[in-house]
Amino acid sequence: MPLLEFTDKGIYCAAGKFYVDPWLPVDDAVITHAHADHAYTGHKRYLAHHLSREVLLYRLGDITLQTVEYGETVFKNGVAITLFPAGHVIGSAQIKIEHKGEVWVVSGDYKVEDDGVCTPFEPVQCHHFISECTFGMPVYKWKPQPEVFAEVNSWWQNNVQNNLATVIVGYSLGKAQRILQNLNLDIGNVYTHGVIENTNEALRRNGIVLNPTHRITQESVKDEVRKGIIIAPPSSVGTPWMRKFAPYSFGYCSGWMTIRGAKRRRAADRGFVLSDHADWTGLISAIDATRCESVYLTHGSTATFSKYLSEIGFDAHEVHTLYGTEEDDAPVPTAEAKLADNNSQEPAKSVANEGGEV
Ligand SMILES: [Zn+2]
Ligand SMILES: [Zn+2]
Repeated sequence: MPLLEFTDKGIYCAAGKFYVDPWLPVDDAVITHAHADHAYTGHKRYLAHHLSREVLLYRLGDITLQTVEYGETVFKNGVAITLFPAGHVIGSAQIKIEHKGEVWVVSGDYKVEDDGVCTPFEPVQCHHFISECTFGMPVYKWKPQPEVFAEVNSWWQNNVQNNLATVIVGYSLGKAQRILQNLNLDIGNVYTHGVIENTNEALRRNGIVLNPTHRITQESVKDEVRKGIIIAPPSSVGTPWMRKFAPYSFGYCSGWMTIRGAKRRRAADRGFVLSDHADWTGLISAIDATRCESVYLTHGSTATFSKYLSEIGFDAHEVHTLYGTEEDDAPVPTAEAKLADNNSQEPAKSVANEGGEV
């Protein structure tokens, strides 16, 4: 009987009687990170990294939550559980599970580049590695982060000179803070959508120091906001909330911006290739560093990636989970993107030129 098994509720450890990132209600849930496809509501008890604490409480309400540091071991029914940094978002962890000499690691989502905001990814040796592979295709190759933010900052500067507002879109836990901490604040102020600011506030309550932000409210002065930059979540794209900043230029930060057409589908003026997941070489280097015998792939390009891993000598398996549905994970076009696709084969419409109408 292997130490971990894949059940219809999630990844289960029978010896320890707990689940990792279960999607149906269970008694004991160990949570890799606070994104919605990993931290579901309805469990009796939660265990997570302490930097996930305030975001989990904000998102899931009044839950019974035990938190630990990286490297701190806790036992459940004699099974050792230790969290290690996953480098994905603040508070994200890989879960190392050890019992009678058998070691498994559940990666959750991860990236190997140090983003300067969350604790960098740390490879953990194990026999069996349960890995994501959101971007498990060779076409996905990230530029170093400083290059991407040099592009973002010069785009922003240009918009200010052209009297355009600047809206940059990234999901609220992870991308938003990475953007915030890498903007050149000599250019102007940073404004935030309420959803982003609520997450920032939760992180600040957790002791994380973030750059100053101004929450957008009814009272925000449009001419002032135009000189700054607005960080907004994907859900705000194409809404009246966003249109009120017109004329504006709208940039989208995602690994999916690698793919031709992704920018157009999201009606963005600029697509910045920036992901909180590992790229093709990042995935391979991470898996290699675990020195594992077998790899289980939970979500992403599982077919392509497992085939490749088998070819280079790993015992690789695809498994079915419900992960990969958070906004940055999911390549599925949104409703309005589908609409845009149906409308025409026309090249990307510039939001700025259209006066903000999308
Ligand atoms: Zn995630
Ligand atoms: Zn995920």
